[in-house]
Amino acid sequence: MSFRVCINCYGIRVYPYMGFMVGQRYQCQDCQEQMVIPLEFDTQEDYEAFAKQMGVAVNDQEE
Ligand SMILES: [Zn+2]
Repeated sequence: MSFRVCINCYGIRVYPYMGFMVGQRYQCQDCQEQMVIPLEFDTQEDYEAFAKQMGVAVNDQEE
C-alpha cells in the first residue's frame, strides 16, 4: 500500500482536497499545507528511511 506524505512537514495525514476552481489537490491535516503533488512512498520502510534523513520523528502506525 502506498501512501502520501506532506511536502512541508513530512506528515502522512495527507488527504485529497477538492476545490471547484483549482482542481484536485491534497491537503495535510497536520500543517494545513495544500499541494498538487505530495510525496509518495510505497512502503512504511521507505518513508521511515526518508523521514530519518529529514530528521522527522516517525509515529507508530495509526490504529
Ligand atoms: Zn504537513
